[in-house]
Amino acid sequence: MSVRAGIVVTGTEVLTGRVADRNGPFLAERLRELGVDQAHTIVVGDRPSDVADALRWLADAGVRLIVTSGGLGPTEDDLTAQVVADFQGRPMALDEPLEGRIWAILEGLRVRWPDLDEEAIRRSNRKQALVPDGATVLEPVGTAPGLIVPPAAGRSGPVVVVLPGPPRELQPMWATAVDTAPFRAAVAGATVYRQHTLRLFGIPESEIAETLVRARDAGVDLDALEITTCLRRGEVEVVTRFEPPQQAIYDAFAAVVRDRHAGTLFSDDGSSVDEQVAALLRGDGARAGRTIATAESCTGGLLAGRLTDLPGSSDYVRGGLVVYSDEAKVALAGVDPALIERVGAVSVEVAEALADGAIAALDADVGVGITGIAGPGGGTPDKPVGTVCFSVAARGGGRLTRRVVLPGGRFDVRDRSTTVAMHLVRRLLQGESDGDRAEP
Ligand code: ATP
Ligand code: MG
Repeated sequence: MSVRAGIVVTGTEVLTGRVADRNGPFLAERLRELGVDQAHTIVVGDRPSDVADALRWLADAGVRLIVTSGGLGPTEDDLTAQVVADFQGRPMALDEPLEGRIWAILEGLRVRWPDLDEEAIRRSNRKQALVPDGATVLEPVGTAPGLIVPPAAGRSGPVVVVLPGPPRELQPMWATAVDTAPFRAAVAGATVYRQHTLRLFGIPESEIAETLVRARDAGVDLDALEITTCLRRGEVEVVTRFEPPQQAIYDAFAAVVRDRHAGTLFSDDGSSVDEQVAALLRGDGARAGRTIATAESCTGGLLAGRLTDLPGSSDYVRGGLVVYSDEAKVALAGVDPALIERVGAVSVEVAEALADGAIAALDADVGVGITGIAGPGGGTPDKPVGTVCFSVAARGGGRLTRRVVLPGGRFDVRDRSTTVAMHLVRRLLQGESDGDRAEP
């Protein structure tokens, strides 16, 4: 059975885009894991009437569960608890033991801010301990308690889960919320879906559309699957959701993709190229680990940043050179100035010299060189904006070098460059090398 839910993200800073919403996506993913069909996310500012409108709209849309984020703080403009209480027809009441527990938390904070006005703190303490009568209180992670508020007796409508805005508070509190009886009752009977992700690199999204047609022609009942494809950071991601009994249909679909896209499908277990590169660099029982270093021009260190995003990367990342100017390429990566003079800084030759320079300068097993034109200026007919040269080399032999023209603006070219480089590193580490086969 399908249980539908809605999310209300509150906060003028989120509505205006000053702060990017991290709670809506987090909650959507968690609801999905629980088999709850997340139907809508509504973002509203800190106006009580707008929050109330959003609750009403979702209730009218028939959701069984609403999760709100934000507006639980001690200040006057934090009004979510009151709005939800009104919505559910429950009066606000002071929870005295809760007031005491919040006071204890505040005392810890007061040690750090000894000059604060005690009376003002007492007031805001009391405000945060005012909760809708009959609500389940979720213990504060910061100072604000969360709430689970069912409709008052005799009313119908969705259960509302009220969570604080700061993600570091909301996320642990969510884990507490799902374990409570009123939450479990609200989502009881939800179908638990399975979800699988396929990732491909080096094909346009339209190719997948064609693959879907072929799969259907081959008799795969795609209507039993919910397939979404999207282009993300230069990769095509195919996410499929289905009910467990449809596993065989999914397997048949995945087999068609595997068969038709053998050369571009790089992940069928949900792993990202970053994780695969990390695993390859780390090595395993059969293969020794290897270290990596970068020399980046147009990406200015973004690849090194991406390589170090994953915890534990100190095991294999030696470091990175940001060699934006020709002088830096010469001084830091040991590129021959005559080479730059002869072929230009954006060239496969310089990319190769950068990769070798990174290996030498940072004593790494694998080196990556990137040099290109991110734009918007600097393009020529011969080397238009988006031209990027890559070389990935292994100490002692093995190399992959590419020159590509990437689409999009400056941000896209730089970001996409890190993806291209990641895939080249992956292929080199898997033993591929130029010269093993004819260039495509
Ligand atoms: P507080 O006690 O901190 O005021 P609160 O529950 O009232 O808690 P908000 O005032 O709505 O929360 O938000 C506090 C801060 O948390 C915001 O300034 C913002 O930095 C962060 N935050 C709130 N909502 C989001 C969101 N949806 N995504 C990312 N960050 C958020
Ligand atoms: Mg606040």
